[in-house]
Amino acid sequence: MRRVSIFGATGSIGQNTIDLIARDAEAYDVVALSGGQNVAQLAADARRLQADVAVTADETRLPELRAALAGSGVEAAAGRRALLEAASRPADWVMSAIVGAAGLEPGLRALEQGATLALANKESLVTAGALVMSTARKYNARILPVDSEHSAVFQGLVGEDMSGVERIIITASGGAFRDWSLEDMARATPEQASSHPNWNMGQRITIDSASMFNKALEVIETKEFFGCAHDQIEVLVHPESMVHALVGFADGALMAHVGPPDMRHAIGYALHWPKRKALPVERLDLAKIGQLTFREPDSERYPALRLAHEVMAAGGLAGAVFNAAKEQALDGFLSREIGFLQMAEVVEEVLERLLSSQCLKNAEMTLDTVHETDHLARNTAKKVMAERN
Ligand code: NDP
Ligand code: MG
Repeated sequence: MRRVSIFGATGSIGQNTIDLIARDAEAYDVVALSGGQNVAQLAADARRLQADVAVTADETRLPELRAALAGSGVEAAAGRRALLEAASRPADWVMSAIVGAAGLEPGLRALEQGATLALANKESLVTAGALVMSTARKYNARILPVDSEHSAVFQGLVGEDMSGVERIIITASGGAFRDWSLEDMARATPEQASSHPNWNMGQRITIDSASMFNKALEVIETKEFFGCAHDQIEVLVHPESMVHALVGFADGALMAHVGPPDMRHAIGYALHWPKRKALPVERLDLAKIGQLTFREPDSERYPALRLAHEVMAAGGLAGAVFNAAKEQALDGFLSREIGFLQMAEVVEEVLERLLSSQCLKNAEMTLDTVHETDHLARNTAKKVMAERN
């Protein structure tokens, strides 16, 4: 039996992972499941899968979790320390699907015990890519991408090596406001930004898709994971969300990955790797679909993509600044402190204020400097937003 743990089990990726594991429950020994506020879901899944431990990140919810797990034989735990302890428990395969920079440390703990890390939490690679990759090397642990574009590139590279790769193209659906005017986008509400035309995902990544911050994070994720240069990475708007990525080789060939917009494909690929197993996803009927379309992203509508290139050029801790400023700006949009288009303005302002700092430029990347930078960027973003109001 394979020992598996799922961090962020109550979220969109977590629930899709549980769906795949529950279909073949005898094959898995579930070690840990983690959640946040959705304690009822966490307890129900932990009972059903007979996990060793269920952890809620919110310490105040422990009594509720304990009550929900009474008599089940599943241990209840809560808080940051318990979460990290659960991530250190030996497992063969660990899903990293907490949203935001909060997912970084549990992922590192899983790598330190040598687990194969199925990485949905792109923020880990954006915030601390060098640290994540070096931790994997140090502990001889493998990372398998779960973000659909990166899974697609990974699959396109089977049997290849990076020396033959000229470029990597990741696609973007364009999100909720693909066909909106800039004036309408300026007035967009969190509710409008929270519905995605093709994918069913958590609220934060859905809004990031509408602003292209998600794609900006993914460009950085591509650079960190595949080790390519930033000018080798391109973004194409592809409204149908069926071609997830293309790898362009030195001989002019483009290897495209085509599949339905269902995260259970990328999760299942990472779960069964290096084999392929049947997955409960739709089989595409290309004759029926008829055509797939592509266009260049509009840089005026999507400043986030330009910012990603500035961040990659700066290197070091710039990714930690970028991600934290983006998370804070998103909170500002959700609480209606700033408008939709102002998110990019706030992030740009934070980058301007912090990236010139010598101290940040010279700092070595450690977990401590990453935390300090994250904290500084969040506070700077709060200040920038307060100054605007
Ligand atoms: P969701 O918002 O649906 O789920 C997030 C999960 O993290 C939940 O289990 C939530 O708990 C938990 N959580 C939230 N805050 C914290 C915290 N501070 N500490 C610990 N746990 C916390 O997100 P998604 O599933 O959509 O996304 C998860 C990750 O996967 C993100 O990094 C996202 O970018 C990435 N991803 C997602 C895709 C998708 O299709 N959804 C596609 C590609 C990548 P609770 O809900 O119980 O509060
Ligand atoms: Mg993606």
